[in-house]
Amino acid sequence: MATHLITGGAGFIGSHLADCLLGRGEKVVVIDNLSTGSYRNIQHLEGRDGFQCYVEDIRHESLLNELVRHADRVYHLAASVGVRLIIEKPTASLINNIVSTERVLSCASRYRKPVLITSTSEVYGKSKQAAFCEDDDRIMGATHKARWGYANSKATDEFLAMAYFQETRLPVVVVRLFNTVGPRQTGRYGMVIPNFVCQALRGLPLLVHGDGSQTRCFCHVKDVVPAMIDMIEHPQAYGRVFNLGSDREVSIKGLAEQILGKTGSQSPIRFIPYHEAYPTGFEDMQRRIPSLERVASLIGFRPVRTLDDILTDVIAEMTPRLEEERGLAEQAS
Ligand code: UDP
Repeated sequence: MATHLITGGAGFIGSHLADCLLGRGEKVVVIDNLSTGSYRNIQHLEGRDGFQCYVEDIRHESLLNELVRHADRVYHLAASVGVRLIIEKPTASLINNIVSTERVLSCASRYRKPVLITSTSEVYGKSKQAAFCEDDDRIMGATHKARWGYANSKATDEFLAMAYFQETRLPVVVVRLFNTVGPRQTGRYGMVIPNFVCQALRGLPLLVHGDGSQTRCFCHVKDVVPAMIDMIEHPQAYGRVFNLGSDREVSIKGLAEQILGKTGSQSPIRFIPYHEAYPTGFEDMQRRIPSLERVASLIGFRPVRTLDDILTDVIAEMTPRLEEERGLAEQAS
């Protein structure tokens, strides 16, 4: 039985990774400062055999050092994520993303531990390629636009990972996640599916940015997490970057319509200009599709869950949560 350290393990993806590993009989140690993660995501694991949690910032160097030393694998998911958070708190987000990753890499290198670094499709920037391949050029916007700062902070993480591999042969794999979604994802930081589902269930307008013709490819977290485990175990993954996600495209307007249909909600769709949704200078990407060739040839990856499966799971999780919140609000009033 191996011990897996998950930084950011109380986050949306980290908590599903913890579930998956524990389900396979592995040991899991989580470190999370609960800044964007939530205790609620791991509450059900508390007291379970093989599970340990530290509520602490990973920049606590001596603790991180000890946790990495005792781990067999390290999954680094702790980061400032979500377009809204990055735009609202750019300094803290940039510093956090770069410093934390450097510390994780340096500890993993010290103890020669396999480490998986989670990056993002944001690193492709506003490239207009039909499908993004890992070795493609990246096209970034101006430095006064915070979104590109986030993209570059994650790209810097990738450069660091590659540098450690090159100089110390650290067994490190970089995974670029494309719109990973599913239960437990919060809408607090701007992510579209939890926002739309919440708006639909509450009978509020679904706020579509722009004309809704922009597209994304959404991948169920339960397809993503086993692939991450396969990749950290695969020696041919080390020193390489992989896209991970779905390549099935949907427009944001189409997504809103599908959510209305599935929830039976009478909510209207309201189109709001980007400058109302985000501060000035924000730029969106019209399309973002991964090439999955590399990850498919390494581990045979293909997402199996459809957008309909994703929405079924998100709605099933969110419905009782919103009812609970409504009950509490009624009690308080
Ligand atoms: N979006 C939207 N309404 C929302 C939240 C997001 O129309 O309430 C749009 C957003 O502008 C983008 C797409 O949905 O075009 C996906 O946004 P998200 O933040 O989920 O992911 P990302 O932009 O990182 O792909």
